Parts: sequence; structure tokens; C-alpha cells
Amino acid sequence: MSEFSQTELNKIRRLPQRGQYDKETVYSIVDEALICHVGFVQDGQPFVIPTIHVRIGDTIYLHGAVANRMLNHIKAGNTVCVTITHIDGIVFARSVFHHSMNYRSAMLFGKGRVIEDEKKKWDIFAALTEHIAKGRWEDSRHPNEKETRTTTIVAIDIETASAKSRTGGAKDEPEDYALPYFAGVLPVAFHYEEPVRDENLPSDVAVPEYLAQYKR
Ligand SMILES: Cc1cc2nc3c(=O)[nH]c(=O)nc-3n(C[C@H](O)[C@H](O)[C@H](O)COP(=O)(O)OP(=O)(O)OC[C@H]3O[C@@H](n4cnc5c(N)ncnc54)[C@H](O)[C@@H]3O)c2cc1C
Repeated sequence: MSEFSQTELNKIRRLPQRGQYDKETVYSIVDEALICHVGFVQDGQPFVIPTIHVRIGDTIYLHGAVANRMLNHIKAGNTVCVTITHIDGIVFARSVFHHSMNYRSAMLFGKGRVIEDEKKKWDIFAALTEHIAKGRWEDSRHPNEKETRTTTIVAIDIETASAKSRTGGAKDEPEDYALPYFAGVLPVAFHYEEPVRDENLPSDVAVPEYLAQYKR
């Protein structure tokens, strides 16, 4: 299946023409992001937690301390909603009402399970590290027994998802186009600065290529 079927849960109602359900679009939004926000309800109280993720196939993996509330909730097999947003521009219209944003966002739904298998856990540590910076796993100390034992990894198998995006300029009411207010887009780009060396780093340790050339 290369596309999520539209259901009551994932169907975009407002401006449905901005919706996309193919995995390629949804997953490109997921993979570009450094973090996601995980939404869940526990005892009637909603929580939305920002956290690092990695996607492998149709599964999202998260990690954290064994006492982590979100991970324990997910571990118990509860459904969660994972949201990711990229801002590409701020849209200034002539009218306040038509101000908007250019964006790409994705919402994914699925149930959680814990990863107990040591080998699998190890693979996810590597995948999470590589998601942040490709090349870092082989260029750092790997988790020891205590670090592995005190870290929970959960998997969320993606049952359904949607993507929504907006591109283009301001869309004003026809009678407003003659108004003397600026209209247009302020493009927004996420960029990375030069790496800053740790003060305790020996001077003969060079900045690795994957950081000097970092991009997503
Ligand atoms: C940066 C940004 C700013 C936004 N600002 C506003 C705002 O100020 N006001 C406003 O009304 N809306 C805003 N939106 C759009 C907002 O995210 C929803 O799309 C909107 O609330 C309409 O939802 P709905 O009633 O159609 O769908 P709902 O009934 O709320 O959702 C139904 C299903 O549609 C899908 N869906 C809904 N929204 C998204 C999305 N953004 N991305 C992926 N899937 C989605 C989900 O699968 C969801 O379960 C913004 C979006 C972004 C990314």
C-alpha cells in the first residue's frame, strides 16, 4: 500500500485540496524533521510532548528514560498521534483575515509497543543517531549496558496518516487587491550554523565532515 486510505480519522475537512495521503509525501515530511510532537490522552488529560524520532518503514521509534510518562503510556499499547510541521513562509495578505503560512505538516496515528529485543534496541539506537546526523553512530561511543538498560524504546506502527501543505502567495478578496498594504511571502528557512567546539575538545579532533556539511 503506497497510500493511506481516507477515513473519518485522517480525512482533512477544511481545504481538503491541501491534503495528501501518499506515503512518499507523508514520510518525506517525517524524515526531514529533527523532532516530532506526540499527542496522547491519559486519564482525560491531554499531553503533547516534543521528542526525537526515527522512521523505519511504516514504524516510528521513540526513546527515553524508563520512567518517561509518554513512553510508558505508549508501551501499554495506547493510540497516539504524532505531528510534524515545517514552516516554509509567512504569508502577508492585504486583509488580516487572509494572513496565512506556507507549510508542510503530517499527522500519524498508531498504537505503541515496547522493543525488548537487545539486537533490535541496538539497531534503533543507531537509527536514531543516524537520523540526527548521518555518520555519527560510527563516530561516537556506543551505549553501554547501563545506558541500554535504562533506556526504553517504543515502536508506533503507523495505521493511518495524512499530510497537508500550503504553497504560494497571498489570496485576498478581489475588492482588496487595490489596497495600499504590502502583500507577499516572507520565506522561512531552517539552517544550521558553523559547529561550535566543546571547550574541552583536544585541538587535534577535527570537525567531522558530516557536521561541516550538515544538511537535511
Ligand atoms: C503552521 C500551521 C499553521 C496553521 N494555522 C492554522 C490556524 O491558525 N487556524 C486554523 O484553523 N488552521 C490552521 N492550520 C491548519 C490546521 O492544522 C488544520 O488543518 C485545521 O485546523 C483544519 O482541520 P480540519 O477541521 O480540516 O480537520 P480536523 O477535523 O481537525 O482533522 C481531521 C484529520 O485531518 C488531518 N489533518 C488536519 N490538519 C492537518 C494538518 N495540518 N496536517 C496533516 N494532517 C492534518 C488529520 O489526519 C486529522 O485527524 C495550520 C496548520 C499549520 C501547519
